[in-house]
Amino acid sequence: MRIIRAAKVLTGRPGEAIEDGEVLVDGTKIVSVGPRGSAGEAGDVLDLPGHTVLPGMVDAHVHLGFDDKVDPVTRRSSESDHHLLLRMAENARKLVSAGVTTARDLGGRGFLDVVLRDAIEEGLAVGPHLVVATRPITITGGHCWYMGGEADDEPAIRRVARENLRAGADCLKVMASGGLMTPGAPPSWTPQYTTGQLRVVVEEAATRGKHVAAHAHAHDSIRSSVEAGVTTIEHCSFFTPSGHQYDARLADLVAASGTYVCPTVHGVISRIAEVHGQQMLDAWLAGVAAMRDAGIRVIAGTDAGFAVGDIPNPTDGYVGGLETFASVGYGNAEIIEMATIRAADACGVGEVTGSLDPGKRADLIAVAGDPLERISDLRNLALVLVSGRSVGQGTVDTVTTSVG
Ligand SMILES: [Zn+2]
Repeated sequence: MRIIRAAKVLTGRPGEAIEDGEVLVDGTKIVSVGPRGSAGEAGDVLDLPGHTVLPGMVDAHVHLGFDDKVDPVTRRSSESDHHLLLRMAENARKLVSAGVTTARDLGGRGFLDVVLRDAIEEGLAVGPHLVVATRPITITGGHCWYMGGEADDEPAIRRVARENLRAGADCLKVMASGGLMTPGAPPSWTPQYTTGQLRVVVEEAATRGKHVAAHAHAHDSIRSSVEAGVTTIEHCSFFTPSGHQYDARLADLVAASGTYVCPTVHGVISRIAEVHGQQMLDAWLAGVAAMRDAGIRVIAGTDAGFAVGDIPNPTDGYVGGLETFASVGYGNAEIIEMATIRAADACGVGEVTGSLDPGKRADLIAVAGDPLERISDLRNLALVLVSGRSVGQGTVDTVTTSVG
């Protein structure tokens, strides 16, 4: 057993902080959380004065199968699955080295995300716990069709959904609208599916107790996603042919439904202006701020792996996304909640991770400083535990024998 003691312990619940606190870890699980001395003499003490211990962070939207530089469409024909799997393993290592201990991969090809998820759990690879969507469901030639999940009508949608679940998907991803980076696909302001078709995806996921993430830029797609009962809306950018047009009534509908929104805020967002202009960036960020004010349950996720134009959105840039939320007026306590327990709940794993509670996985980080005061202190990582296993840039003790 191990006692991790620090100047401050954040449990992950909104604003809850224990001054001079400690966490008792036994193997893969948290045993207790409380003030100094509460764990008794139960284990070796790792004392971290001047540090804050908090739950490991959750990235609700990544694509480990991309390298944040190369156009994935051209890459698909030139990179073997074998090579791609190694790339994904390296991206998983980068992600966990930034303090992300759980990530939801929302789309890749060949069910490689299932292989990587299981390899990480076995201790064969280093990375965060993964929640994987496998192939996004999309129309023929639609957004991200090249990942292999094309389906145009209800029977086909059921078929792809069931194949994904058979292969081991933890959730289903559906491309409710077009997107920004698939040549020849419908543009982002165009719906790809009707409400009824999206409902089929939700029904199929529900048969296995799984949730649905819907990629939706277009107004009608955001509305359809809510009506169909998806769990998370990705992007939710209120996109129209003339750019972002925030719709307060539609936002109220999203808020009232309790649907989570992952606006895929990442660390290189400010550089969007270089590609799409300052006006587009400002409108987009205003929408991100307005969604919080509307009472929408916003969560942290970066879309890491995809480039924005030629600008890399690197896999280890997670904290940059949180800083972007801070720059548009989100409070630090709220950001930490969005990055931990709220994102874990949205990804269907809030029962096992996302907060420091007895019985949950020992997924936690320690940082020098106090991220409640300065969100950028989340960059000062001193410790990353994934189910009690220590992971770091220089030190990795996640070989198979250490998993137990
Ligand atoms: Zn994405």
